[in-house]
Amino acid sequence: MSTDLDILLAEEWVKTPGIPLVIAGPCSAENEEQVLKTAREIAKINQVSVFRAGIWKPRTRPGEFEGIGSKGLKWLEKAKAETGLKTAVEVARPEHIEQALKHNVDILWIGARTVVNPFSVQEIADALRGTNIPVLVKNPVNPDLKLWIGAIERINAVGINKIMAIHRGFHYFGSSEFRNAPMWEIPIELKRLVPDLPIIVDPSHICGKRDMIESVSQKALDLEMDGLMIETHHNPEIALTDAAQQLSPGSLGKILNTLKIRETDGDISFESKLETLRSEIDKLDVELLQILAKRMEIIDDIGHYKKDNDITILQMKRWAGIIEDRLAIGSQLKLEEEFLKRMLNIIHKESIQRQTDIFNEGQSSEE
Ligand code: PEP
Ligand code: MN
Repeated sequence: MSTDLDILLAEEWVKTPGIPLVIAGPCSAENEEQVLKTAREIAKINQVSVFRAGIWKPRTRPGEFEGIGSKGLKWLEKAKAETGLKTAVEVARPEHIEQALKHNVDILWIGARTVVNPFSVQEIADALRGTNIPVLVKNPVNPDLKLWIGAIERINAVGINKIMAIHRGFHYFGSSEFRNAPMWEIPIELKRLVPDLPIIVDPSHICGKRDMIESVSQKALDLEMDGLMIETHHNPEIALTDAAQQLSPGSLGKILNTLKIRETDGDISFESKLETLRSEIDKLDVELLQILAKRMEIIDDIGHYKKDNDITILQMKRWAGIIEDRLAIGSQLKLEEEFLKRMLNIIHKESIQRQTDIFNEGQSSEE
């Protein structure tokens, strides 16, 4: 995949060379006091240079707090005037851009739920034409690097060259310790394809809970990401959105002081390779389990069929045939025979057990 992006280096507009850019602020602007209090405390942390706050919130379900709307922009203007921090808000519609520009917001970002939709991204791009306001593009919710790059291209094509990508993790089918699986190989591949594009990491939305933020932030820096966006609230417990993942300004300061900026030689290929391999294993394991579950479902159907037709559960000839056939396939696939036999036996045992359970269903009550 080749790209034709024309990106201004972050050092030329927002970043100090060699130091990660840190954006912090609440998930949502809730009221004037919350915004100002949080901004004042964040301003004391010298690593932070940009204050974020969600004004329009894309909520998964209706009926939840959907953001305070344009009136919150005045609070951000005040916060900026008082603290000197630059401000950043999420925009999803042309009206949001109009309002944000009117209130002198410094940086806009496009959220993960918007980036999935090229129509919305194009509408945003059209509304940005002629501005050259910096735009940060979050990854789409689904792990689709082309879609992410496509959104960046649409913004770049209207003449905006102050662009960064934000890695906030990906929705993942299957259980994971993360709210959004990091799948580091995707931002790493983005870096490889577009070396000039700065990528900052949003550990808050990757983790979903604050106790993991430090380790994911360190990982981001170890992978040579260019900065962090961390949700911070003066009192996270009472936050109206994403309460579990927001940090207090005090904890943010501590974490930022703990993070190590390691000297690197610009070669992240080892980490990158390992991440790619690990993430392939994760995906394969989920597929393996899904296939196993599907097999058990069919076993249950067979169990019911045998019960309804009075056929015995264990059909030795069939089982001997299965073993012979699977061992032959396994040997072609270079799987150890002993391992295969053990695995097939475990699966067979479980299958017999499920069918036995089906045969016994309702029996005790009939007796
Ligand atoms: C946010 O930054 O508060 C947000 C809504 O994030 P995302 O678009 O990554 O879900
Ligand atoms: Mn949030």
